[in-house]
Amino acid sequence: MSHLLETTGLQAFYGDAQALFGVDVALRAGEITAVIGANGAGKSTFLKSITGLVRVPGEAIRHKGDPIGGLPPAEIVRRGIAMVPEGRRLFPSLSVEENLQMGALTRRPGPWNLQRLYGMFPILEQKKRAPSTSLSGGQQQMVALGRALMSNPDILLCDELSLGLAPIVIREIYAAMPTITAEGMTVVIVEQDVGLAQQVSQQVYCFQEGQVSLQGRSADLTREQISQAYFGAE
Ligand code: ATP
Repeated sequence: MSHLLETTGLQAFYGDAQALFGVDVALRAGEITAVIGANGAGKSTFLKSITGLVRVPGEAIRHKGDPIGGLPPAEIVRRGIAMVPEGRRLFPSLSVEENLQMGALTRRPGPWNLQRLYGMFPILEQKKRAPSTSLSGGQQQMVALGRALMSNPDILLCDELSLGLAPIVIREIYAAMPTITAEGMTVVIVEQDVGLAQQVSQQVYCFQEGQVSLQGRSADLTREQISQAYFGAE
């Protein structure tokens, strides 16, 4: 099997409005793939299609060779695909540790558990009994990331981890990525900061108006290629 997950001619709709127009993406196991593009380009819709929040035809998405398009979100998590949603979406009435434990409700065998997470983000252990709402934005993002890891996914989808966070906090969150990928986890990041996306990833897909406008190995792409693909031809 060459690709862990593959989308082929992926189209997605909100009612009559089409948001994705034939997107082909292939994730290689153990790599970080960055998805970039302007507001409304379809990045979130792409992630939601994979996680079952936007219904798409079965054959449009294959995971380990199996068609998974249109499966219910809970089944997608059971198969090992977890998402860190945009805006974090923590359970406000629960403590930090309870939020993390919610991620373990669908638990697969694997390396991640509370102890491991606390090793990666020690601040979360210090605040484990605090209400999640009392944490800073960056700490809440760590909880959201940790909650997704608690299911021991083989694919982790991250929607705009850096949204609304200070640069130093963003660096702290992304510093966790090598630990996360060390044991073969495959990661997709949707990221507004193009420079950062290119830096932390092995491959980049740029979306424009619901289509892939550029795809390549992160180390090979030039700034000019990316800005052309991002903003389109003048
Ligand atoms: P952003 O960076 O703003 O989140 P994005 O690249 O993630 O942008 P999407 O949110 O996937 O883009 O949006 C793609 C298209 O689908 C846009 O035209 C958007 O207006 C439309 N869209 C997104 N969500 C819905 C929805 N719930 N109902 C109708 N149209 C939607």
